[in-house]
Amino acid sequence: MFEGIIGQEAAKKTIGSMITTDRIPHALLFAGPYGVGKGETALEIARKLLCVNGLKSDCTTCNSCKRAVKLEHPDLHILFPFRAQKSSESMSAWVDELQSSKKGIVSELYAPIVYEKSRQIVVDLVREVYERLLESSFEGGRKVCVIFNADRLNVHTANSLLKILEEPPSGVHFILTAEKLSYVLPTIVSRASVVRFRRLTEKEITAFLEKKHGLDHEKSVLYASLAEGSLKTAKAYAFESKSDIRIRSYDMYKDVALGDHDDAVSQAYSFSWSRDVAEAEELIEGFILCTGSVLKQKYGMDRYHNNDPENIVKLSRLTDIDSLYRLAVRLEEGLEMLGRNVNIPTVMTSIFYEINDTYRYKQHQRQ
Ligand SMILES: [Zn+2]
Repeated sequence: MFEGIIGQEAAKKTIGSMITTDRIPHALLFAGPYGVGKGETALEIARKLLCVNGLKSDCTTCNSCKRAVKLEHPDLHILFPFRAQKSSESMSAWVDELQSSKKGIVSELYAPIVYEKSRQIVVDLVREVYERLLESSFEGGRKVCVIFNADRLNVHTANSLLKILEEPPSGVHFILTAEKLSYVLPTIVSRASVVRFRRLTEKEITAFLEKKHGLDHEKSVLYASLAEGSLKTAKAYAFESKSDIRIRSYDMYKDVALGDHDDAVSQAYSFSWSRDVAEAEELIEGFILCTGSVLKQKYGMDRYHNNDPENIVKLSRLTDIDSLYRLAVRLEEGLEMLGRNVNIPTVMTSIFYEINDTYRYKQHQRQ
């Protein structure tokens, strides 16, 4: 069971016993960080619920299983954050894009999909799915509705969902996922059985990248260490261009922190003509992570970011906790300034000086 799902032993145990006792609640809610396997597990259970050979069988090959895996089973309904239809846009164009986004979900295990922050689960779709849930099932068995990111239901949409959760038609199962449980309506949470998903360990992520994607050990360890326990984030680093920036941010941070004033000046200079706000944001977010690693080292927690323990330890000896918090605040302010369109060279220059100052103080003391 759950062959493709890595880690999550506690969640698997809970769900496993629901399956062996044939007691799958009408509404399951998987809560936990981004990219740790909530959606993958939800789809796996959906497949099992729809399998013609029954929930408890090991079947993965019947017609129902095959169609469920491709999200093509007529009794499997999927809701996820998506933009509303534009007034100028035809229904079919909108549906086409929706369908291709849906395919992205199952293109591969742990596909690194990030829904844009502005996207919500649109009410029209919820209504349509309801109508279909109320009809009798196509295959005469159960019906399953998987809702990704239920923390992105607005109040309006959530209320219509609530109506159906209060009196679920028989044979209908809901499986919801959410990163922020506090953003899900309490009335929905109270009607669902909540299963917690945790961050993955660096070892689990490293092993997956090596075995599934054939990455070499060194790279796998590096991406795992940057990912804060999220396999999808690790994959985004490994296979999307964003990774280069994040890794570059670590090198820059280290150089400026360990270097002298001139190093800060020359890094700042390299941004003199930069117009790429997304890149600058990504770099600053990388600096925030680096600062967090050094802080964790200070507090004796080094679970994450241990790809370069030597330098993190070295950095932690060059500064103190107060300076690190001050730097973290400055970095957040830098992000805010970019949001207010302050020009990039100005923001980056002040940030490099701050990083250099944070670590320089003790460096001078030691000399
Ligand atoms: Zn089957």
